Amino acid sequence: MVYISNLGYPRIGENREWKKTLESFWQKKISEQQFEKEMKSLRLSSIKKQHEKGIDLVPVNDFTYYDHVLDFATMVGWVPNRFGEINEKPSLETYFALARGSKNIVACEMTKWFNTNYHYIVPEYNKDQQSKLIYNKPLEAYKEAKAELGIKTKPVILGIYTFVQLAKGYKKEEKQGIISKLLNVYIQMLKELESEGVEWVQIDEPFFVLEEVREDINFIKGIYKEISSAVPSLSIMLQTYFEAVEQYKELISFSVSGIGLDFVHGKEGNLQSIIEHGFPTDKVLGVGILNGRNIWRNDLNESINLIKSLQNQIKPNDLWIQPSCSLLHVPVTKIEEELVDATLFEALAFADEKLEELVLLKNVLNDPNSSYENEVNYAKKCLINLKQLNEENKTVQNELKAINEGDFKRPVPFHLRYPLQNKLLKLPILPTTTIGSFPQTKEIKQARQQWRKGVLNDTEYENLIKLKMKEWIDIQESIDIDVMVHGEYERTDMVEYFGEKLKGFAFTKKAWVQSYGSRCVKPPIIYRTVEFTKPITVNETSYAQSLTSKPVKGMLTGPVTILNWSFIREDLSKEEIANEIALALRKEIRALEEAGISIIQVDEPAIREGLPLKKEEWNQYLNWVTRAFRLATSSVQNETQIHTHMCYSNFSDIVDAIIALDADVISIEHARSHQEFSNYLSESPYPFGIGLGVYDIHSPRVPSVEEMEENILSSLKVCDPKRFWINPDCGLKTRNETEVIDALSNMVKSAKKVREIYYSII
Ligand code: GLN
Ligand code: ZN
Repeated sequence: MVYISNLGYPRIGENREWKKTLESFWQKKISEQQFEKEMKSLRLSSIKKQHEKGIDLVPVNDFTYYDHVLDFATMVGWVPNRFGEINEKPSLETYFALARGSKNIVACEMTKWFNTNYHYIVPEYNKDQQSKLIYNKPLEAYKEAKAELGIKTKPVILGIYTFVQLAKGYKKEEKQGIISKLLNVYIQMLKELESEGVEWVQIDEPFFVLEEVREDINFIKGIYKEISSAVPSLSIMLQTYFEAVEQYKELISFSVSGIGLDFVHGKEGNLQSIIEHGFPTDKVLGVGILNGRNIWRNDLNESINLIKSLQNQIKPNDLWIQPSCSLLHVPVTKIEEELVDATLFEALAFADEKLEELVLLKNVLNDPNSSYENEVNYAKKCLINLKQLNEENKTVQNELKAINEGDFKRPVPFHLRYPLQNKLLKLPILPTTTIGSFPQTKEIKQARQQWRKGVLNDTEYENLIKLKMKEWIDIQESIDIDVMVHGEYERTDMVEYFGEKLKGFAFTKKAWVQSYGSRCVKPPIIYRTVEFTKPITVNETSYAQSLTSKPVKGMLTGPVTILNWSFIREDLSKEEIANEIALALRKEIRALEEAGISIIQVDEPAIREGLPLKKEEWNQYLNWVTRAFRLATSSVQNETQIHTHMCYSNFSDIVDAIIALDADVISIEHARSHQEFSNYLSESPYPFGIGLGVYDIHSPRVPSVEEMEENILSSLKVCDPKRFWINPDCGLKTRNETEVIDALSNMVKSAKKVREIYYSII
């Protein structure tokens, strides 16, 4: 029989009720009681909705007040010592302090969940950490659904291996010992579920798709053996996602009742493993058949064929059809979208629509005489229509075909270009600059809203933006910044802004997804050929440049970041879409150059996060990524200086690719604990201009002149002073104006002090 399982449902609610409730609570606008009440109703309504749609195995415990990894850590007592001893379920105050920090306690670190844009709170292992079951969240969730709705659900629990792998604070060789020590607590939690009569649990072990699992596989097999013999009546679905599993042959011999595999990302690898090693008939196969990371309808015909071939091949008793991963990564429902393009609307499937597709698939598969042909064919037709939208557009395709290798290369190498640029720019040594954005004040945000509503006309809105630009050019002049920026006041977001001005993008009303905590993002949809129609940033940049004799940087978002932070078409490869965007940006860059802009920054903060999970695929990714960047930036004059910017990732493992971008200058986040990158640079000096961020822009604290001076001096130990730049870690749009003025003034003072030392040396 075929059953439908869901792996996780979006937490945020159809109208981001979750975000609003959280933020009202943080702002003390609602009481704790009210908060709990609203969260409960949201939690239950999602379960009810899934149940009513016909989902057989509805997940619980996927819901959280902030992050599911943090939930697990607090549940087993892994709370850093600085939060005091925790012996009972942490209060909301402590729970949120762990995630967001409090007045005097630093928050836990936050980082990206595998290769997604969801961020989890990194569990911290204290030396000699004791683990104990402080509360049992999956049990509470299960009981609540049963009592309130009469529905028997499937608790979703983070796997013990993945949890420990995600944590920090221990040495690699301690890992297995730590897992063994945590095992008792883990088993106790499962036993309580077993006694409650829970039938199935879903244990998420996405770490099983990473190569690191190779060295641990036998050990984990033993762990799972202990788990299953401790809870004989509890059925475990061992769930993997985001890629093909490693060590498949070993994995299928684990003592669990089911194994869930991703047949979207990692389809080839997982299919190949099944062909080679079969699949045990006594286990349930969880077939992740719908893409849980994108927003398109499923090609149901293709899915039916795939599932049927799996059924023929392995003859399992039961098979679960499910999304490839939790639906956390897609918006809730498309029903309220009013998209300009009906073809696009018809091709979409968000979380709710995906669950409906699963219901249809189940009906077709369980009833051979069913007549669902119309529905199944309709899905296909929608996807074909979407694809056809582009067939008439040959211009961009022809332009891309006409590109040759020379278009990816600047005519002369850096060491010949840089002196030419210096001659033109006349900058002091150790030039100061910022990353692009200045604070978006309330007035600017309000003005934008009024303009969108039509209360302000175009000229009125543009004049307000101009006024702000002028104010900040004056401020930069008075602080004495060497390379200025216009401030990005016209942008809400670094991808949306470009999407709105290029052809090929669509914007939704409510297609939000959680990024971290209460922060949600609404990625644009790239659904047609991306095309440049008219200059995007030239007006603002040239206006700012007209106000000062110092250079003003043109400021663009790079092709890979635009791609990675959008939902994209699936009929083209990522590489092809990145090249379309790159071609459009190439035209924008030419327009900026023609307008007399001599430095152009192309931000690529998302290059690192798009890195494939399998190391063997890194080269291929990094190759097309760097080519797309170079396609965008290589057509400029030798004298035009190309900058790029990256932040909040670990860069050491992609330095070769960063070098291959051939950007004249990179500004890179460095102030927050990135000693590692400095260490790297001490071994392999960076061959172009580089600015290692001298202060953390996420904190309202204004660093002193001495502190930044020290940072600069320590960076100069590993960087060539002739090519070193001085800048903050990232854009300043989230700070307030006074903080920025104070911090930048100190930054410039510190630069001037360091220059005194270096003038005589170089
Ligand atoms: N230029 C952008 C800004 O300053 C860069 C933002 C980013 O790196 N995320 O806001
Ligand atoms: Zn940044």
